[in-house]
Amino acid sequence: MAVVEVELDVPEGVQVRGYERVAGGHAFEVSWGLPEQVTCEKCGCSQRVRAKWADKVQVIRDLDIQGQPAFFVYQPPYQRCERCCHRQWLLAPFKRKHVTVTYRFEEQVLRLLIGSTEQEVARRLGISAEMVRLIVNQRMKDEQAIDPQRVITDVGLDEISLKKRHKLYVTILSDLTDPERPRILAVAKGRDQAAAKACLQRLSPQQRKQVRTHRTDMSAAYACEPLLPNSQRVIDRFHVAQKLGELTDRLRKKDPRLQSAALGGGAEAVPLADVAVPQTA
Ligand SMILES: [Zn+2]
Repeated sequence: MAVVEVELDVPEGVQVRGYERVAGGHAFEVSWGLPEQVTCEKCGCSQRVRAKWADKVQVIRDLDIQGQPAFFVYQPPYQRCERCCHRQWLLAPFKRKHVTVTYRFEEQVLRLLIGSTEQEVARRLGISAEMVRLIVNQRMKDEQAIDPQRVITDVGLDEISLKKRHKLYVTILSDLTDPERPRILAVAKGRDQAAAKACLQRLSPQQRKQVRTHRTDMSAAYACEPLLPNSQRVIDRFHVAQKLGELTDRLRKKDPRLQSAALGGGAEAVPLADVAVPQTA
């Protein structure tokens, strides 16, 4: 019998319980630590977690492994409120509510959009252009705070355009402090000064003072220079696009290694056809 060991960089707090090779991809059965207490979202009462697990299986798209899609598979845990009987999901730490992709998959989509069209990104990742747009829209609505302790010395401002039906321009602020690990900090609608400012104002005044370079070819960015009083502008779009491209390639190269060690357990095989379309769960 052939056994395969897959090396996977899992999000923090997530355990891999099993692995199954599925048609054209990899499925990982995952679990995560549940909180001890939960507050009912309906009646507001606080109670001990007594999780139950739904019968249905949730399939979440994660980063590719060796050019093939990987999926996290699990039975979603929920809590039945002791007082009002309301059922609420105990959410997975690696994704937001109502989406079928992980946070890091969303981040990859945004990175790939810098310098590519939504169709190109959709084709490369095997998802629909609607899914790409949905991910961008969700990320724009995000109020996810930037850690005020994070030291950011180099940033990039890029504009992307989504062309289907109505043209949508979006500005992306990236942290390029560690060139090995660029991170997306903020996403705002538009490609004008207001959009660039909206992104930069997500940084605290202290953080903005620490920025030494901002890489951008956006014409609107000059108006933001007062917001980055100690920063020099670098027009180097190719460099930024290349760095982001390299990172994406490296993430894809976290390949499974064929070795003679067994992985216990088994994820339930799931059809992949449904996975690329957003569902509400
Ligand atoms: Zn309740």
